[in-house]
Formats: sequence, C-alpha cells, structure tokens
Amino acid sequence: MKRILVSGGAGFLGSHLCEQLVEEGNEVICLDNFFSGSEQNISHLLPSSNFKLLVQDVSIPLSLEVDEIYNFACPASPLLYQRFPIETFKSSVLGSLNLLELAKSTGAKIFQASTSEVYGDPLLHPQPESYFGNVNPIGPRACYDEGKRSAETLFFDFYRQYQVDIKVMRIFNTYGPRMSATDGRVVSNLILQSLQRQNLTIFGDGSQTRSFCFVEDTIRAIRLMMASPKEITGPINVGNPTECTILELASLILKLTGSSSQLYFLPQRTDDPIQRQPSVELAKTELSWQPTYQLKEGLLKTIAYFESFLKKDVC
Ligand code: UDP
Repeated sequence: MKRILVSGGAGFLGSHLCEQLVEEGNEVICLDNFFSGSEQNISHLLPSSNFKLLVQDVSIPLSLEVDEIYNFACPASPLLYQRFPIETFKSSVLGSLNLLELAKSTGAKIFQASTSEVYGDPLLHPQPESYFGNVNPIGPRACYDEGKRSAETLFFDFYRQYQVDIKVMRIFNTYGPRMSATDGRVVSNLILQSLQRQNLTIFGDGSQTRSFCFVEDTIRAIRLMMASPKEITGPINVGNPTECTILELASLILKLTGSSSQLYFLPQRTDDPIQRQPSVELAKTELSWQPTYQLKEGLLKTIAYFESFLKKDVC
C-alpha cells in the first residue's frame, strides 16, 4: 500500500486513476480546486477511508508525506483555458514547480500529464517524441501549450539537477465516461448534441484530424509508466494512432446514436492544429503498451455514459 497524491484528481483522467488506486488499497489524496474537476466524479470515493480530498489550488505550495505523485491539475479544454489563460499557465508551471519540490523533499516518484499540444500545429506527421513542435508562443492556445512545455522543462531540470524520479507522458486526445458535459471538447459536444437532436457544431470545414484514445487505454499506460524502471523518464506519447477527421467522427456519432441532427459549420478556431497523430513506437517498446479499443467500441461506452448523464440531469 502506497500513499499517493493525485493532483487534479477530480478531473476526467484523475478521477479514473483515483478510483483504481483506491480499489487496490492505496491511500489516495486527491488535490483539486474544482476549477475544471467535478465533485460528481469522485463522490463515490468519498466514503472510503483510503480516500482524502484536499480542496486547494496546486499553484499554492504544499507539504505532505507521499510515495508517489500524479500531476493532472490543469484545465485541458481549449474553451476553458482560453477563457482563463493566466490561471491555466499558473496551474501548469507553478503547480509543477510545487509538486516537483514536494517530490524532491519526500523522494516521491512523480508523473506529469503532458500533452500532444506541446507539438502545436505539427509540421511533422505522425508526431514522434523527438519532434520539437510548432507552437505559436503568443496565440490563444499558448497558455496551455507553453505552460505544458515549461512544465516539461522543469521536470527534466529537476531530474538532471536533483535526480528526481520523473515520468513524463504526452497524452493525445482521450475520451470516455466522465468527460465534462460543458467544457466544449469535440467528443462530448457531438455526442450530447446528437442525443439532444441539436445541430452538431463543426469548427472550420471539419477536415482537421485528431486521434482519439479511450480512457481505459490511457489509464493503463499511465500505470505502466509509473511502474517502469527509473531510467524510463519519457517523454512518451500515449494515444490511439487511428486518425480521423472531425467530419468522420461526426458521421460515426450520428450513426451510433441513430440521430437525425444536422451539421452546423462555424469559423475555424485560431491556431487549431490541422492534423494530429501520435507515433506510439516508444510506448510499445518501453512500456509494452498499445491501445486496444476501436473508436466505435469506445464511443458506444461514452454514448451510454452521456445517455444516463442526461437522464439524471433531467430528473
Ligand atoms: N471541434 C469541433 N466542434 C466542437 C468542438 C471541437 O469541430 O464542438 C473541433 C476543434 O476545432 C478541433 C477538434 O474538434 O479541431 C478537437 O477539439 P477539442 O476541443 O476536443 O480538443 P483539441 O484537440 O483541440 O485540444
């Protein structure tokens, strides 16, 4: 049994991880300020004596005895982080600094949820970890992209200067149950719009691509990385290499929900990456990981989640 801090533990990925760690008998401390996380995601864990909730901002230093730290604390949806860019940058950079100081003083192993956004609007396709990216440092996405890039810099400086045991993963678009219904991500938006017979919002002409990974696959990779030998620091890409356009995603969601909704085209977002596909060779060789869920299979589970979410919401 370990004492594990999960910052951003009430968010989409964080809550799935907390659940698994508590089930295995670990003592889990969930740190969240509920800026983008939700109490609903962790309410089922609150009765457990192995689960503690600490309502605090990660950009404030903290002192705790822990064996492992997972850092997920940062708004991840473009809609939210562009509305609150300074808070986003602070949670990424000050949050990482605080948690790295904690890892250094306690000797804890520390995982960083980095992102495919470090590649910006990539000129190399698919994106390997060796690619330095193409980020606009002053654009509306920079608070997130540069915040996560700076966090990676801090992680590797703490590793080189203080030998902190770091694990940096670049997570590509992940979807599944417990995604926020209101943060404007494409999978949640299109599913909710289809289920509610509303128009499906498509930014630009819908030819931009993403590669969607089901949450169970991502969580499995995170656990494998945390359990890997010290010399495996990352960064390691984790995502499903099956790439699709937003139009293809929309038409699959319409088919799976049996919806008669129409497509509604809106202007393209500034600096929206045109294409994104992970190279997962490193995850295969270093973690023996590869995704198992097909898009259709994962979407059916996510649609079922949002159907029951809507029923509860209406009651
Ligand atoms: N998108 C869309 N309709 C929506 C939400 C998003 O067409 O209702 C597009 C968005 O412009 C982007 C892609 O879907 O090209 C993925 O957007 P999301 O916000 O989910 O994540 P991102 O990968 O951009 O961080």
